[in-house]
Order: sequence, then C-alpha cells, then structure tokens
Amino acid sequence: MMKKFVYAFSEGNAKMRELLGGKGANLAEMTVLGLPVPQGFTITTEACTQYYEDDRQVSPEIEAEIFEHLAKLEELTGKKFGDPSNPLLVSVRSGARASMPGMMDTILNLGLNDQVVEGFAKLTNNERFAYDSYRRFIQMFSDVVMEVPKHQFEVIIDQMKEAKGVTLDTELDADDLKEMVVRFKAYYKEQKNEDFPQQPREQLMEAVKAVFRSWDNPRAIYYRRMNDIPSSWGTAVNVQTMVFGNTGNTSGTGVAFTRDPATGENRLFGEFLVNAQGEDVVAGVRTPQHIDELKDIMPDVYNQFCDVAHRLEQHYRDMQDMEFTIENGKLFMLQTRNGKRTAHAAIKIACDLVDEGMITPQEAVCMVEPKQLDSLLHPQFDQKALKAAKEIGVGLAASPGAACGKVVFTAEEATEEGKKGEAVILVRLETSPEDIEGMNHAKGILTVRGGMTSHAAVVARGMGTCCVSGCGDIVMHEEEGYFELGGRKISRGEYISLDGSTGKIYGEAIPTVAASVSGDFGRLMAWADEARQLKVYTNADTPKDAVQALSFGAEGIGLCRTEHMFFEGVRIKAVREMILSKTEEQRRVALAKLLPMQQGDFEAIYEAMQGHPVTIRFLDPPLHEFVPHTEAEIKELSEEMNISVEEIHNVIASLHEFNPMMGHRGCRLAVSYPEIAEMQTQAVINAAINVSRKHPEWKIVPEIMIPLVGEVKELAYVKSVVTKTADELIAQSGMELHYKVGTMIEIPRAAVTADEIAKEAEFFSFGTNDLTQMTFGFSRDDAGKFLNYYYDKKIYEFDPFAKLDQAGVGKLVEMACKLGRQTRPDIKLGICGEHGGDPSSVEFCHKVGLTYVSCSPFRVPIARLAAAQAAIKYPR
Ligand code: PEP
Ligand code: MG
Repeated sequence: MMKKFVYAFSEGNAKMRELLGGKGANLAEMTVLGLPVPQGFTITTEACTQYYEDDRQVSPEIEAEIFEHLAKLEELTGKKFGDPSNPLLVSVRSGARASMPGMMDTILNLGLNDQVVEGFAKLTNNERFAYDSYRRFIQMFSDVVMEVPKHQFEVIIDQMKEAKGVTLDTELDADDLKEMVVRFKAYYKEQKNEDFPQQPREQLMEAVKAVFRSWDNPRAIYYRRMNDIPSSWGTAVNVQTMVFGNTGNTSGTGVAFTRDPATGENRLFGEFLVNAQGEDVVAGVRTPQHIDELKDIMPDVYNQFCDVAHRLEQHYRDMQDMEFTIENGKLFMLQTRNGKRTAHAAIKIACDLVDEGMITPQEAVCMVEPKQLDSLLHPQFDQKALKAAKEIGVGLAASPGAACGKVVFTAEEATEEGKKGEAVILVRLETSPEDIEGMNHAKGILTVRGGMTSHAAVVARGMGTCCVSGCGDIVMHEEEGYFELGGRKISRGEYISLDGSTGKIYGEAIPTVAASVSGDFGRLMAWADEARQLKVYTNADTPKDAVQALSFGAEGIGLCRTEHMFFEGVRIKAVREMILSKTEEQRRVALAKLLPMQQGDFEAIYEAMQGHPVTIRFLDPPLHEFVPHTEAEIKELSEEMNISVEEIHNVIASLHEFNPMMGHRGCRLAVSYPEIAEMQTQAVINAAINVSRKHPEWKIVPEIMIPLVGEVKELAYVKSVVTKTADELIAQSGMELHYKVGTMIEIPRAAVTADEIAKEAEFFSFGTNDLTQMTFGFSRDDAGKFLNYYYDKKIYEFDPFAKLDQAGVGKLVEMACKLGRQTRPDIKLGICGEHGGDPSSVEFCHKVGLTYVSCSPFRVPIARLAAAQAAIKYPR
C-alpha cells in the first residue's frame, strides 16, 4: 500500500503525535471530541523527512495528495480555493512532535490575491477587514516564505500612521489598508524582482516548503540540541480553514492556560485581543486584555470557553495551553497542548492533580521535566537584602526565580559574556526567536513590550530562566548603551536584579541564598524516591559540597576527587616539594606533611556523610599541574626550598607532556611513585578508624577507587600497595574495619577487559568523561572548538561529554557491566562522569542495571527524578 502523507483532522487522534506532530494530533483529537475546530488537514512528519530525502523537493505524489485533501476541504466547507465569490482561506502552521514554541513559522489568510480580496470584501461586507487580512498575509508570506526582510513592512505601517496622525493599527481605514497593500507589494517586487505570487496553489506549496525548511533553521537546530530532539523527527504541516478574529468588535483572538503557568494556581489564565489576528497576541505588539475581562465583553463566549477548557484539561489530565479565535461572536479552538510551565508551577500542578484524583503519584512523577528542577535548586534572593533593596520599576512576573547580573542589550552580547561565565541580564524591547541562544546564556531577561504569553515569557519559562516582561516604563536608548527607569539611568555593564516571581526590577545587585527541597517539591521527590531503583550519589570533594548534596537527597559520595585537596593553600607547597624530590626518601618527607591535612579532610567528609558510602578516588592529574608557572612563583619556590631556579626549570621541562590527558596521570602516578598511594591509603584508613571510634553505628566501609586503569596487572600492583598499608593500620588499631578497593572504568581497554579487571576490582565506577574522550579520541578540553561544525553538518547532534553517546561509549559501558558481572556477580556498578546528572544518560544507566549514578550536588534532585521516570518507563 502506498504510504499516506496527508490526514484530514477527522482521520487522526492524539495518539498519532509522531506522525501528525503535536498540533495536528491535538487538532484531530479536538475534532473527535466534537469541539468547534475549523477543519483542515495535516501533512505528516514523514512528508517532511521525505522532503529532505528528496533533496528538498516535495514529490509529485505528496503534492497530489495535498491537493486531494484541499478538494475535500473545499467540499466540506462549501468554499473554493481562489474563488473570489466564495473563497477558502487557510492558515499554514508547523507542528513538530514536541512543541517548539516560537521556533517555527505561521502563515495566515493564505489564498488571498488581488481578485480574491475584492470578492472577500463584498462577501463579508467589510472592506477594511478584507484588506487588513490581505496586508497581513503579504507581510507574513514575504517574511516567512520568501525571506523578505520584515522590518520595512513595519516602517511602512508607521509612516502611514504618522501621515494620518494616528497611533493604533485599528485606526487605519479600508482605503489606508488598500494603499498599504499597494506599498507592500511594491516593496516585495523591489526585493524579489517579481510580483507577489497570485496563484493560491502556488502560495500553498511555497508555504508548505517553507515550514519544512524552517525545521532546519539555525534557531530550530539550537532549540533541538538544547532539548534533545533529533533532527530525524521532522515537522508536520497543518493546513486549516481560516476563522477571523479581525472582523470587528465582536471578534478577537487569544491564548489561555487552564492553570497559571507561572505559579500553577488553579484558575483560567490568559490574554486576548479584540479585533485582532493570531500573532498579535504572541508578538506583544498590542498589550492584550486579561481573559477575565472577556466575561464582561462576551459573556456567552466566555462561558463556552471555560467549559471547553475544563473539558480539555479533564480529557488530557494535564494543564492545557489553548489558542482560540472568536469570529463574529462564535468561538473556535485553534490549538491545545500540554502547557509549558515553570518548574514551580509544574510541581504544584502535578501535586494538585494527584490531590484532585486526576492522576496517580507515578503519573505526577512523569509529568515534571527533570532538567527544569534546576531553576528551583539555584539561589533565591536573600529576603532581608531584598526588603532593603529599592525597586526601580515593575513588569510582568513572566518566569520566576532570582537573577542578578550586568545589563546587556543584544543576544550576541549575552552569548559572548555568558560563555565567559559573566552573569548578564538581557534587556530588550521585545525578544524574537532569533534571540534564543542569547536568552539561554542570560541569567535573566527583561523586556519592555509583550505580555505573559509573549515570546520572551514562553521561552524563558521553558528554559527555567527568570524573566520580567512588558515593563512599559522603560525608556530604551539601546544605541547609546543605556535605559531609563524609575528616574535611574542604567548603562550597559551595570548590575541590576530581577525578581521573576513578583516582576520587580532593582537597580542594584542583590545577594542570593541557597534553595531547599520542601513542600510540594519534597512530596514529588518522595514519590520519585519510591519509584526509582537507581541510587543517587554525588560527586563531592569538600564537606560543604557533601552537606549540600545530602540536603538535596544524595545517598552517598560516588566520587571524591582528592587532587582538589592538593591544590589548597599551604598544601601546594608540600606537593611541590614532593614533585621536586629526587629520592624516595625526600618524597616521603613531603608526603608526611600532606598526610595529616588529607586525613583531616577525609574525617570531615566522613563526619558530614554520617555513614553513607563514600568513594575516594586517588590522585589523578598530571604532576605538571602542580608546579609553579610564573617566574615570580618559581623564584619564591627556589628560595623556600633552597633549590636553584635553573633546577626548578629543569624539573618543569622534564614534566612537560605533549598530551597530558593521555600522559603521566591516574594510577600511572601510583605505579611510578607508590608512596603517594601509600600516603593516601593511610589518610583514608586513619580517618575511617577515627570517625568509626566516635560513631561505630555508622559502620563506615571505606571505598578506595583507583583511576585510569587499563590493565588488570596495573590495578593489582596499586591495590597491593593499598591493601598492605591498610591491613597494617587496621591490625594496629585493633578495630574491625572492612574496606573495598575498586576502579574507574574510563579507558576503553579497561571496558573490553572488564572480566579480568573485576578479578581485582570490587566495584566499577564508569568515568565517562575520560571514557568519552578516549573512545571518540576527542580531547575533553578542546572538543568544544570543533564540535559546532559537527552539529551544523548533523554528524553529531549533541555534545557527547554532556549526554552519553549510547551507540558507542554506551556499548562499552554495557559490555563492561556484563563482563564484570561474569567474574563477580555482585559487583557494585556506578557512574561518576558528568553524565550521571543528565536525564537521558540516567535512563540509560537504569536500563543497563547500574547500582547508582553520581553527579554534582545541584543535579542530585534532577537525577532522582530522572531515575524514577526511567524506572516507571522501563521496569527492571
Ligand atoms: C571521568 O573521567 O569521568 C571522571 C569522573 O574523572 P575526571 O573527570 O576526574 O577525569
Ligand atoms: Mg577521569
């Protein structure tokens, strides 16, 4: 059977999201539910993929199928495409599987041309409306489909308003709009050297292709990478009969949520504009009215809309984000989808829906995006400092959180500064989809125009970035590098603070305090903990990190990197002394100085962790990292150690490596200088003995982890140093102390010989940072410089250092698990690379049956939630 590429709305349903895209599937579902949906058809995501396979062409078969459905739509509506006496007009909108707000382009009023608009004016008895629709179509089609710069259209509108002495678009009459159409077409011709296309069928096919193309525009690619959406999914295209919100004062258009997307509060929330068309609300050109006001203006429509909203929420059992249009007092639904929401709202809604009996706790767990939690875990304003601070203005509380940073005015600056680690606040008149990368790098976003559903608000909420929108009091002087607000002049680079929960703007830096897991957040996490099978540990090198992680629910330390302790203050001197030592004896003297310091650190960590497992990883980095770099430091060291400057230079030169990442590091250091491993063993075992004496109930079992092992004999050698030292100390202490020696699997050779390695290792921890580096042969420090080229060419679609490469590195992990278990069935398996806190990688870890994932403290709740979702999706 031939593949079907086009579906009428009446042929689909919500389950067909992969094929019809989210928008198409939900339009079909609403049709099935009997809601007032203007009819139309969906061109499938497979047609999009086919378009790319066919070298960016729509095949004649697909085109024929589109026109077949167009004919059916003509029959259904009794209107005809391109017929001036009774024209069918359509909207063309993209709709991918996952919603990508602001990423894709919409065209309204398609089917209008010079003749049709005249007929349309007669038919509707509304010339103004007909020409308003036509000028909008020319604008959208030119910009979205033909890539004619859109700015000039706005200039023409402004010029015409100025000439007439009016301020609002609605104050222009039919003749003005006719004139506008003439000017728009002239501008189009000037830009494209041809007339504005007059054939509706040609318009339609061009629009369809433009939607397919837009799947591949840079901002869509960026959004996909941020949200783990593969390019192979493609987007569907929805062609829908137009209904008009711009016929006069009994018409309008709006967007609404069944619950407040910022706070989660259970009340209808949204905005609408009378006598306006679709994009007017989202674009933030005119300031919309609150949905509650619709009650007074059109009470019947309002009541009907409330019913529909309630029905949709009950049906989808989730908060809905709906678009609607009112045409001459009649309500039409144009879209519904599960609404984007802030992390705070997501948690409240999930808990409320459980309390309302609509969903189960497990469903609630699956409803919250793990990555979103990030915004709740980061600092909030210090309440005292906040009270003392003086606000200079207020806008809409569009996306909550506390942000403090330096003012920048362009997305490019935000990206540049953000990449340098600077905290910046992006201040814009309004944001547009082109700004997405800069928005992602900003700590906060402040806009002059736009409502709660403007682009800035929607995108910021999706990203979990603090946003205050629509602060109309701001006077921008972007070119001169400043803005005015509340009597203050604030220049580029000055600090401001934003409170995304109240909309308040402060002209100063306000200190922030750490967040905590309580209330609904705590409830949700408790449900997650019940569901998950993976344990969640943390990577922590200091007692402070350990305490932070414990408060976020960590169940142990999966990686304590000991080198950080070597770098601190006075210790670095002892370390340098050790490195400059010429004999083992000298080295032992230096190591003896380090021992009490390191032991003290471990004691503090054992105290902080109160009996939870702690895995201590032995020294890893190459020694050259510890030697001084500047002449002044070298001179100082030479005086302190009574060694000549020249000699120090010689040592530095001898330590130089062409590729330190593959050099003298990890267990190779312990193989060369076993006394380092000896000292570290003493520190761990002594610390465990001391803390165990105080707290025998904690039953501490030290876990010593040897890094960068590639060969079982190398592990056996280092382990022999560890066990000899440890056993002697334990015997001397007269205590009973068990300890474990394990290894990291971070070299491919270790993964493929894991059965051998497991003979010596009591546990494995996958060091997927190095394992990724060594498997790809990409330096983890340099890959960022060239990976962008790979993303552009879709050779790789994500950063393998952030998200585990399951096809390659993951295979090695799986193989090592299997081989390790063959030798030692009860082997403890974990991961401590950065991937341990990445939701999709956590899912992988669950599937291969690891015991735990370990991640940085701030990602612990994310990993807990991701682990729960994985367990619910893939029961072991
Ligand atoms: C790893 O390589 O994944 C790891 C955790 O070790 P490090 O990042 O310290 O090299
Ligand atoms: Mg490593």
